[in-house]
Amino acid sequence: MRKTFTSTRSQPGPSGGLKFFGDVVVEGLAPDGGLYVPSKGFPKLEPSEWLRLAKMSYPERALVILEKCIHPMHISPLELRSMVNRAYGENFASESVAPVKQLTEEQYVLELFHGPTASFKDLALQLMPQIFAHCLPQMCRITWSWWPRLEIQAVLFSKLQMTAYKEGNVRSVSVLSDFDFCQRSIKRMFGHSSLTGHLAVEYATVLSTANSINWGRLLPQVVYHCSAYLDLLRRGAVTFGNPIDVCIPTGNFGNAMSAIYAKQMGIPIRNCVISDFISTGQDDLRGRKLVVSISPAIDILKSSNLERFMYHTSGGDIDLVRGLFMSLEKQQCFAVSEDLLQRIQQDIQAGWCSEEDCLTTIHKVYSETGYIMDTHTAVAKAVADRMHDRTCPLVLCSTAHYGKFAKAVLKALQCSTSYSVPSECLYVTLSVNQKKSIFFDDYFATMNKNVLGETFVRTIMTQCLGHQAVNS
Ligand SMILES: *Cc1c(COP(=O)(O)O)cnc(C)c1O
Repeated sequence: MRKTFTSTRSQPGPSGGLKFFGDVVVEGLAPDGGLYVPSKGFPKLEPSEWLRLAKMSYPERALVILEKCIHPMHISPLELRSMVNRAYGENFASESVAPVKQLTEEQYVLELFHGPTASFKDLALQLMPQIFAHCLPQMCRITWSWWPRLEIQAVLFSKLQMTAYKEGNVRSVSVLSDFDFCQRSIKRMFGHSSLTGHLAVEYATVLSTANSINWGRLLPQVVYHCSAYLDLLRRGAVTFGNPIDVCIPTGNFGNAMSAIYAKQMGIPIRNCVISDFISTGQDDLRGRKLVVSISPAIDILKSSNLERFMYHTSGGDIDLVRGLFMSLEKQQCFAVSEDLLQRIQQDIQAGWCSEEDCLTTIHKVYSETGYIMDTHTAVAKAVADRMHDRTCPLVLCSTAHYGKFAKAVLKALQCSTSYSVPSECLYVTLSVNQKKSIFFDDYFATMNKNVLGETFVRTIMTQCLGHQAVNS
C-alpha cells in the first residue's frame, strides 16, 4: 500500500482520494480544511520487536519506528538513516537525546529540551525539514514536473523576538495577535482556492505549513513516547505490556496526539491531557479571550490536532468531524454525544491548574527533590499529582528547559538573585531559603550546542538581571 493518507473531513472516493506520504508532508493542510491522518492507523510492533528496541540508542529506535511508518518507496532506509543521524547526532546536548529521569517513586520526567532551542519541538524540527526537502523533488518529478522548487517561506509569528529574522528566502511576518489568530489565518489562506491557484499559476508556488498540522511534524514525536517506555523497560520500572500514564502540557494537542499514535503502535499508554474540553464534552470558545500566562506555549484556545483525535476516536466519522470543526469555526463551540465522550475519556483524562499552582509546584518539586522544572512541565506535574492513581508509573513530558522561562521559575523558587559574569560564562547564583544555591550550569551546557545560544544568554540575562545588565 503506497497511498495511505486521508483527510479528516472527506471520504476517499472509489477513484482514489487517498494520498501519498510525500503529498501530505508537502501539502500540510488538506484542501478541504481537514488534517491528514493514516487511514488505517499506525502499524503495530510485536512484543519481541519492542524488546529488541529497548536495547538500542535513540537514533536506532527512531530509525526502526520511522521505517515502519514511511514506505521505503518514499524514503529509502538508507536515506532515512542518514536523516535520522543528522537530526539526532551532534545537535543534542544529551547523548540519549530524550533522557528519562526518575523524580519520585512512581513519577518520571521525559526531558525533551536538550535540542538547539531547548524545547520539545526540536525533536520534530531537526528531522522534518529533511523529510520535507526529500519529498519535494520527488513530487515534482512525478506529478508536477513544471514545479521548480519551494520558493517562499513566509513565517507568521506572534512573538516579537522572531521578527528580526530575515535570511535567504525566509521572511517573518509579525502580527499583533496570538497563536490562534495565526493558525486561523493560515487555514483561511490554504482554503482560499483563488489565492492558492494564483500562487500556483503565477509563481509556481505551493503553500505548506510546518506546525503540528503537518504530518511530518507529528511523526517524529511518536518516537520519543515509545522511547520513554523502552527506557522504563530497560531500567526495570515496568515489565513489557504493563501500562504507563503520560502527562503532557498541551497547546495545539500535537504532542498528546503523538502519544496516542505511540499507543496505536503498541505502547501501553493511558493519557492525561490539559484541556477543559475533555472534561465537559464541549469546546466552547464563546466569550473566551486568550490570556497570556507564564506558560505561554500552551496558551492556545483552538487545538488543531484535536481534529485528528476525534477522527480516530469516532472510527473515521468524517461527517461528524467536519460538522464539529465547522461549528467551532462558525459558532465558536461544539459539543459531542455522551457516547463519544465516554470513548474519548477511555484514552484521555484532562485537568488544568492555576498559575499559582504552577509556581507552587515548581517550588515544591525543587525543595523535595532538587529538580527544577519549567512552567509547562509544572502544569503537567500539578495535574498529575491531583489525578494520578499511582497504580502504574507516570511519565511527565518536560517540554522546555527551565532556563527558557527563567523569570517565572525564579519567582517560583522565591530566590534572591546574585550574579557574576566571569569571562564568557554567565553564572546566576540563586539562594533559596538562604540554604541552597542553584547554578544555571546545566542550562549553559545545553546551550553550548545551541544555535540560538546568543539569544538565550540575552533572554536569561534580561529576565534575571534586567535590561541594564544586558546592555552593559
Ligand atoms: C509548543 C509547546 C507546547 C505545546 O505543544 P503542543 O504539541 O502544541 O500541544 C508545550 N510546551 C512547550 C514548552 C512548547 O514549546
